[in-house]
Amino acid sequence: MRLRVAIENSGFVFRHNGDEFSIILPDASTHEAVNKIGKLLQDVLAAPFDIDGASVRLSGSFGFALFPDAGESMEKVIASIETALYHSKRKGRGRLTIYSSEIEKTVRENAVLEQALRRAIADNLIAPHYQPIISLQDGSLLGFEALARWIDPELGFVSPAKFIPLAEERGIIAQLTEALLLQAAKTAADWPDELFLSFNLSSTQLVDPNTAAAILETIKRSGLPPQRLEIEVTETAMMSDPETAAQIIEALHDAGVRISMDDFGTGQPSLGRLRELKLDKVKIDRAFIMAIGEDKPAEHIVLAILEMCAGLNLTVVAEGIEEIIQAESLKHFGCHAGQGYLFGKPQNATKTMGYIREFSRIAKSDREAKIA
Ligand code: C2E
Ligand code: MG
Ligand code: MG
Repeated sequence: MRLRVAIENSGFVFRHNGDEFSIILPDASTHEAVNKIGKLLQDVLAAPFDIDGASVRLSGSFGFALFPDAGESMEKVIASIETALYHSKRKGRGRLTIYSSEIEKTVRENAVLEQALRRAIADNLIAPHYQPIISLQDGSLLGFEALARWIDPELGFVSPAKFIPLAEERGIIAQLTEALLLQAAKTAADWPDELFLSFNLSSTQLVDPNTAAAILETIKRSGLPPQRLEIEVTETAMMSDPETAAQIIEALHDAGVRISMDDFGTGQPSLGRLRELKLDKVKIDRAFIMAIGEDKPAEHIVLAILEMCAGLNLTVVAEGIEEIIQAESLKHFGCHAGQGYLFGKPQNATKTMGYIREFSRIAKSDREAKIA
């Protein structure tokens, strides 16, 4: 009814089934016109409904197709609308998509990728690799960050920046995380006791109250003491349900797991939260580190982050160090630790063991040379 009133004389509203409606807008022939009507419909749905004294709010996902761009036949236009609607629903609540051939391509590619991803998880084709984290103050090896690597027999290398968000969208991230964490923690349990494992937690898991228990259960099975595990979370991930996120962090922290804030500086500023949350570490995003030596304002941001973290008693790791000059400047600034191609790229478990041995051999000969 509300939709009909909103559309008035400019179109027709039909109820398909249950919560699905179709709207025909004979005069809306441009993206602007469709966007305008879409926004109006979103607002109309968002206004509270009074149901037996309770106030209820709705949101809707919208998929539009323009005739004749979206196909000349009725079947093709309906298929285009479904593609656009599917795209909107995948993006989350209350989205609006207008069909285009690019959207069709993305939807099709993601469908292929999703199938391959499910197969890869089932066949254990996704494995953690490990990137070293080094003390900038004394050069010692502190631990490794686990980074998921997938080389598909058909698709080749697929970046985690692509498949992690897809796994989140399709609700298979918890399963993937568990498999990766178990494998990484078992690997780390064989490293020397002083080395830690840092593991990325996906944003969708920070809204799931079962996450802390699942992580603790997995590392228990692996034999890695919780004190040797660090969990990386991002600022943006904390935003959607801050209360649940804070509870998960607290439960992990209380079990001895350290928590670090990843990609610091790129998310929404939430400095107040840094104090409230039980955090141990902050990882400064590569974007700021890259600019060291070239861009004074970026250096000032790094200095400000270091000073703030010192006041809050947080350890700081600089991400993405590629040049010696960056490592030296950061050491001079008082930054605790660093990670980046300068020290090593992510490598598989076997090569990582070789790295650890080589590192301790060099450190030992350095010590002996100093004594001699
Ligand atoms: P991140 O956690 O911030 O990881 C750091 C990224 O920077 C990694 O990219 C790493 O390979 C890259 N990197 C490290 N040092 C350098 C450097 O010196 N130069 C440059 N150019 N890059 C460097 P990667 O492995 O492609 O991962 C991308 C993102 O995907 C990660 O960002 C993380 O957010 C996510 N990710 C990776 N593995 C996992 C996982 O197992 N679970 C979850 N939830 N997310 C993961
Ligand atoms: Mg990380
Ligand atoms: Mg990062």
